Amino acid sequence: MPANWCPFDPGSGRVPDHYDVYLYPNDFPAFSPNAPPFHPVSGLFAETGPRGACDVVLYSPEHALPPSKLTVENWRKVVDLWIKRTGEHAANPEIASVAVFENCGEAVGVTMPHPHGQIYAMPFIPPTVQKELASAQRYADANAGNCLYCRLMEEELKQGARIVSADEHFVTFVPYAARFPAEVVIYARRHVRTLLDLADHEKTSLAKSISVIRQKYDNLYGFLMPLMMTVRQAPLQQTDLPYHLHLQFLPLQRSATKLKYLASIETAYGTFLADTAPEQMAENLRRSNPPT
Ligand SMILES: [Zn+2]
Ligand SMILES: [Zn+2]
Repeated sequence: MPANWCPFDPGSGRVPDHYDVYLYPNDFPAFSPNAPPFHPVSGLFAETGPRGACDVVLYSPEHALPPSKLTVENWRKVVDLWIKRTGEHAANPEIASVAVFENCGEAVGVTMPHPHGQIYAMPFIPPTVQKELASAQRYADANAGNCLYCRLMEEELKQGARIVSADEHFVTFVPYAARFPAEVVIYARRHVRTLLDLADHEKTSLAKSISVIRQKYDNLYGFLMPLMMTVRQAPLQQTDLPYHLHLQFLPLQRSATKLKYLASIETAYGTFLADTAPEQMAENLRRSNPPT
């Protein structure tokens, strides 16, 4: 990025001169509407077309504003933009899944300091979502059709030790089997599958929940927490698949001075080591400002 110019700033010529939040087509899209269609074929060296879409979500016109400083009203506008774009993709039978996410901080490889996230519309269901669907299906089959996520949340609320914050509509907690330091999930209390199912007051509550955890993260060590924030929603075209809308935060900082590297044992063997118990991390996050 040029040192004195940011394409996401008002007045850059690339975005409107005035905006609160703005959807910007990715200049280097991994998935594109003009790409060859998705035709998965079998075989050792199968290939297919990456038809889909990639957008950048600009959170604010302010270039140097950390996401933890966004107001709840501002987050609500971001949530509304996620919903609008998800709705547009849902109407396209070629889009199987919409990934709404944010990579934040240099440690995650982010080169643009301007506060932003991304939306990928993909022609397939991504592998980790497939894995979640398979687990949820197995659980439902063995438990009278119950939702795995609803049951997990119920149990977390009962135990309490890993809850970070909760209101009427969303519950924020450190998952029992957290893989990343300070990993957190936000579950919708109501059994909803995608962002499109949220009622008006739930959207505001989600904005509030995001605002609170982002502040807590940046106050935990006193600097911008490098993290991945992902919105996980059900596949768009198959409405019978068992899923439950939730957000996942994967921070890379394991202490004030150390980053967590996903090295051999994590990356190659899929075995995640943690040096803080989830209950302790939940306690640390409850105390972090704003306390909950
Ligand atoms: Zn900027
Ligand atoms: Zn559920």
